[in-house]
Amino acid sequence: MTIAIIAHNGKKAEMVQFLNENRSILEAKDIKLIATGTTGQKTEAAGFEVEKLLSGPLGGDAQIACRLAEGKVDMIIFFRDPMDKHPHEPDIFMLMRLCDVHDIPLATNPSTAKLLMKAI
Ligand code: PGA
Repeated sequence: MTIAIIAHNGKKAEMVQFLNENRSILEAKDIKLIATGTTGQKTEAAGFEVEKLLSGPLGGDAQIACRLAEGKVDMIIFFRDPMDKHPHEPDIFMLMRLCDVHDIPLATNPSTAKLLMKAI
């Protein structure tokens, strides 16, 4: 199973905390993590193996959207920061739209992500 993780700058600390809290699930199951660039760096620094794609504003969300459309992503955990502006807003909407097109579970906050973790 492949899980894509993305966190906006104001949410990166929450993402690391979430990953640490769910380390046993993420490591026990055969889960591959992929992430946008900076989120991936933080994830790696927390001790996880992760494939890092481009940073979000440089096309990382679009790369994840492409993989999703190709059937290579099974779940997305995307901690968005609703209080900030993002230059790559069109890519973010594209990614979220494709989750609905392809019926891929998408958690945009820690509470939903926690529920998804319980389900896998
Ligand atoms: P980042 O990208 O992980 O490279 O910061 C996330 C985003 O802003 O979409």
